[in-house]
Formats: sequence, structure tokens, C-alpha cells
Amino acid sequence: MKVELKHSLSLKLLRIVLLSTLIVGVVLSCGQIVLDAYKTRHTIARDAERILDMFQDPSTQAVYSLDKEMGMQVIEGLFQDPAVRAASIGHTGETMLAERERALMDTPTRWLTDPVLGQQRTFSIRLVGRAPYNEYYGDLNITIDTATYGQEFVRNSVVLFVSGVLRAMLMGLVLYLVYHWLLTKPLSRMLQHLSEINPDRPGQHQLPPPRGHEHNELGQWVSTANQLLASIERNTSLRREAEDSLLRMSQYDFLTGLPNRLQLQQQLDKILVDAARLQQRVAIICVGLDDFKGINEQFSYQAGDQLLLATADRLRAHSGRLGALARLGGDQFALVQASIEEPYQAAQLAQHILDDLAAPFVLEAMEIRLRATIGITLFPEDGDSTEKLLQKAEQTMTLAKSRSRNRYQFYIASVDSEMRRRRELEKALREAQAGNQLYLVYQPQISYRDHQIVGVEALLRWNHPEFGLIPPDQFIPLAEQNGTIIAIGEWVLDQACRQLREWHDQGFGHLRMAVNLSTVQLHHSELPRVVSNLLQMYRLPPRSLELEVTETGLMEDISTAAQHLLSLRRSGALIAIDDFGTGYSSLGYLRSLPLDKIKIDKSFVKDLLDDEDDATIVRAVIQLGKSLGMQVIAEGVETAEQEAYIIAEGCHEGQGYYYSKPLPARDLLAFIKQAQRVRVTPI
Ligand code: C2E
Ligand code: CA
Ligand code: CA
Repeated sequence: MKVELKHSLSLKLLRIVLLSTLIVGVVLSCGQIVLDAYKTRHTIARDAERILDMFQDPSTQAVYSLDKEMGMQVIEGLFQDPAVRAASIGHTGETMLAERERALMDTPTRWLTDPVLGQQRTFSIRLVGRAPYNEYYGDLNITIDTATYGQEFVRNSVVLFVSGVLRAMLMGLVLYLVYHWLLTKPLSRMLQHLSEINPDRPGQHQLPPPRGHEHNELGQWVSTANQLLASIERNTSLRREAEDSLLRMSQYDFLTGLPNRLQLQQQLDKILVDAARLQQRVAIICVGLDDFKGINEQFSYQAGDQLLLATADRLRAHSGRLGALARLGGDQFALVQASIEEPYQAAQLAQHILDDLAAPFVLEAMEIRLRATIGITLFPEDGDSTEKLLQKAEQTMTLAKSRSRNRYQFYIASVDSEMRRRRELEKALREAQAGNQLYLVYQPQISYRDHQIVGVEALLRWNHPEFGLIPPDQFIPLAEQNGTIIAIGEWVLDQACRQLREWHDQGFGHLRMAVNLSTVQLHHSELPRVVSNLLQMYRLPPRSLELEVTETGLMEDISTAAQHLLSLRRSGALIAIDDFGTGYSSLGYLRSLPLDKIKIDKSFVKDLLDDEDDATIVRAVIQLGKSLGMQVIAEGVETAEQEAYIIAEGCHEGQGYYYSKPLPARDLLAFIKQAQRVRVTPI
């Protein structure tokens, strides 16, 4: 903070001190001048007396002897003094023995001094004889012109006035400097330090005591201010702590330290706003401990508290990828799973929590087993407000408890049954491979050069003893999510290669086998080794195995994908890009990937004849493939018209129900044999 110059204390001091010393100087000088005037008047009188005294005797002599000449001599003597204007000797009232006068002196200061000293002053002395007779002879009169005295007086006055004023001002200046040095400077330094103080942490910055003033009022002022600042800081931090702990108490659960319901609601509000903006799902998972009351009664309330603490810790371990975790009260907790894509992710988390809580808790060397029941609501499906979603999740949890415990339940029945089926399927899938429930079917691929079957695509089937035939679109995503796809995929590759070997041995050595690869498999580092091992083991010629990868899988991480594809290619396999056109591949990416074949997705082929856009895409993809030197195959060919169109556009191969559905190995062999006899025609 800087004080403006015109408002500065220094300037004000300077002004006041100068003005007052000036006034004092002027007043004192004037006093002295008055005194001087008085003194001058006195001097005139004294001088006159001295002159009269000096000339008394000769004057008496002249009067006594009535000697005019002598009288005139005396008068001339008197006129030697320039101040004497007139002089006379004689009897007053008679003719003077001798007299003389001259004009008043003309000095420039007369006008000033005449009113003070008078124009002229007359003095006389009696001229008497010798004692004891003392006869009176007459008077000696002189008139003194005050002009010379006036000049002197004015000169003196000017010197007096000027020196007086100058002295006063000099004094004022010295005073000002002393003030400035003693007060203003330390004050402005203190001000500077004060302005550097952080109002939030006033005690942090101590004001330094002004140098040389440590023990006087200024020093005291600074140390008192420092004490004040320190105590302000102490008070503020105490108040802040109190506020913090109040806030904590109002927002956090006292026992577990988890956020309480209030805090959860605030967090959830925010999460829902974000989710709505990003169009994501949110799951609210309400966990209620089963029969916690019983545990409290059977053991003790302290043990109950310990158990709640341990439960909170276990839940915390899951909260890393969550949006929020809170204790709703009693034996109820809530987790918010933000930004999920599918409900199954909530189901997975719920199952993890159930499994995790099922592990025994050890309390005072005792093992306690807990069970929990979970209610799940989903945003936006089950409600769009925090209150509704929380309330429904709690209701669902209570409802689930009343039916059976140790499980999770979704608020919406359809989601709930879907999740249940998912879980069942997942469990069943783990047994499917071992239980010989998986098998492959093969769909022929026709070359348009000579309408011969040049390859087959292996497609996986799962025939469950209870659920029947389960479509791969349902179970493959499941297998990808739980990782079983790696083992299943290797089994598929092995089966397909073994089958191809068999067909080659039976005289169909030109046949090629296409196998679908999941993205999870593609990123598995063992895959190239597995592929080259299989090619060796089944003595399959290079380029007889084609691996179909999907666009979306490749685009996630283009450079790693390119590396993986390269090493797969090096092991002898061909690479085809499946479902082409459904992702977002750009031409640049396509060029940078080592691909042999493009497979036009069946969705484009399906509407090719009705939809102008689809036709354009199909045409463009064929052109693109050709220009990049890749083979192009169309899948999902169902009609002669579709076939005619793609052939006309220059597509190399086709696959679809128009030729054959996917067939078991034996049926496919029969189909090939028949096709060899006649050109492949629709079945
Ligand atoms: P995809 O690779 O696009 O397989 C083509 C799907 O289209 C097959 O369904 C096939 O039966 C079907 N299809 C063939 N011709 C026609 C047609 O003319 N019209 C119509 N509407 N559909 C036709 P599928 O066998 O149900 O397989 C579905 C998906 O499951 C496959 O799509 C593939 O992504 C995946 N899949 C199948 N087997 C495997 C496998 O062994 N491993 C992996 N990772 N995925 C597989
Ligand atoms: Ca495929
Ligand atoms: Ca496809």
C-alpha cells in the first residue's frame, strides 16, 4: 500500500511546521522591531542629552558674556552633528543670542519612521551660573532630525525580520527532518510490512521492530501488533478446526469415517449430472448386512462396532473404481458405481462384494461369518433423482432380504432376470468346454472367379444340455469378459486346424479355414506362438489359415494391433478384417495395418438393393480393397440379386445363406463334394 504524496504525513508535517515556525518567526521579529523602535527613541533622547551636556559649558560662557560670536561658534560646533537640525542659545521668549536651523533631511525611509520616531524632537538644557548662586542665563535648545536614526532603524528592522524568519524556517526544516526520520519513515515501513500480511494467516508474517526504536512507543506498537496478529491467527485456526470438525460430523459417519447419507446424496447429485451429460449409466448398490442384530445380541455391541468397521474396510477395497461409498446408517452401506456401460458390470461388482463379505471376519480370536443382501438401482432406468434411486435401492434390498438372503437383486425385474441368466450362463460356460458342449460349424466361402468353394469360416456353437443352443452373440461377450475366451479360442483354433488337416488329407488341399479371433485373444501375447505351433503340428501350408479380426478391436490401439498382426502373419496366417464398415476405421489406419482381406459386413449386404447408402458403401469398400491390393469378401449374401451386384462391382468372394448355412463338418464335406460336380448354386 502506497500513500499518495499529496496525502502523505511528511508533507502535512512540513506544511504545518513551516507555517507555524513562519508565524512564530514573524511575530517574534515584529516584537523585536517594536522593542527596537522604543530603543531608538531612547537613543535619540540620550544622544541629545549627551550633546547638550557637551555644549553646556561653552554655551553658558557665551550667554554669560553675551558673546554672539562665541554663541555662533558653539552653534556651528553643534551643527557638525548631521542629526542636529536646529539649535539656539538664549532666553526663551527673547531674542536669541545665537540660532540656526536647516531643512529636514530627505531620506527614502522618512514616511515609515516619522510616525514611529516623530519627524524631529526638541531638547533643551538650562544654562546656569556656578554654585552656589546658580543664576539662570538662558537655555540651549537643539532639535534633532530623526531621519538618520530612522534609516538605521529600518536597516536593523529588515535584518531582524529576515534573519528571524529565516531562523524560524530553518528550525522548521530541521524539525521536519527529525519528525520524518523519527516517525514518518518507520511508520511507512511498518505500513509496508502490514500490507504484506496474509489475512488468512495473519500470524505467519511477523512485523520487524523498527531499527533504533525497539524500546520506544514504536517498538511497543509493533510488538503489540504482532501479539494481536498471532492471537488472531490462533483464534482463526481454532475456529476453522471447529468448523471442519462440525462439517465432518455433519457429513461423515462417526464410527467408520465413511461419508454419511447426507454427503452421499451430495456426491450422487454431482455424479448424476455428469452421467446425464456423458450419457452413461450409474449403479446405486445398497448393501444390507444379514442378521446384524443377531450378531450384536450374540456377541456384544463393541463386537458389532468392530464388525462394522471391518466391513467398511472391505467395502473400501472395492471403492477404488467407484464414484462413492457411504454408510447409510445401522447395518446399511451404499456404493455408487459411476460411468458403467452395462448393468452386468453392477452385477459383477455386487457379486464381488458378496463373495468378499462371505470370507470370515476374525474378532478376538473368534470367526464371525457375515452375509449381506444387495439392492441395485440403475440410472437412468430406475429414476433420475438421487432420492428416488437411493430409496428404490433400499427398498429392493429389503425386499430381497424378505425372499432369500446373500444375493443381489435389481430393481427392474427384467434386468434382474437377465442378470441372473447371465450369471447362470457364465457358470455354465466354465463347464461347457470340459463337458463337450462346444463344437464348430463351417460356412463355405465362394470364389467368384470360378464359383468354387475356396474356404470355410469356422463358427462356434454351444449346445447346453438344459438351455439348448445358445447363440455365440450371447456367450462370446461373456467369455471375453471373464477371460475364458483365451482357452475357448485356443480350442477353436485347434479344432479348426485339425478339421482342415482332415479335409486336406481327403483331397481338398485347396481349402482355406477362416477362424474368428476375439480382441481379447488378439492382445494375448501367446497367440502367435499358438498359431505357428498348430500350423506345424497339423502340417498346414502357409496361407491356409485365415484369422478374422474385428475393426473395433484393432482401432483401440493401432500400433500394438499392427505389431500383433505382423507377428501372426509371420507365423503363416492370413489376416482378414471382419465386419468392415461398422467401426470407424479411417483409410490411413487401414493402410498401416498388415491385412490380406476385407470382409464387408452383412448389414450392408442385406439392404444393398434398397438402400442407396449401403450400396455406395459396398461399392466403395470393394474399390478400396482392390486399390490396396487386398481380397474382398462379402458376408451375408442371401439372394441372387445381391450376388449379381457384388460380382458386378468386382468383389472377389462371397459367403452367406444363399450358398449355405454354417454346417457341421460332415455335412460340409458332402456339400463340397456335390459342389465339385456342379457349379455352386443356391440350395
Ligand atoms: P461373424 O464373424 O460376423 O459371423 C457371421 C455370422 O453371420 C454367423 O453368425 C453366421 O451364422 C451368420 N451368417 C452367415 N451367413 C448369413 C446370412 O446369409 N445371413 C445372415 N443373416 N447371417 C448369416 P453366428 O455363427 O451366430 O456368429 C455370430 C458371431 O459370433 C460371429 O459373427 C462372430 O463374431 C462370433 N463368433 C462365432 N464363432 C466364433 C469363434 O469361434 N470365436 C470368436 N471369437 N467369435 C466367434
Ligand atoms: Ca467372422
Ligand atoms: Ca462378420
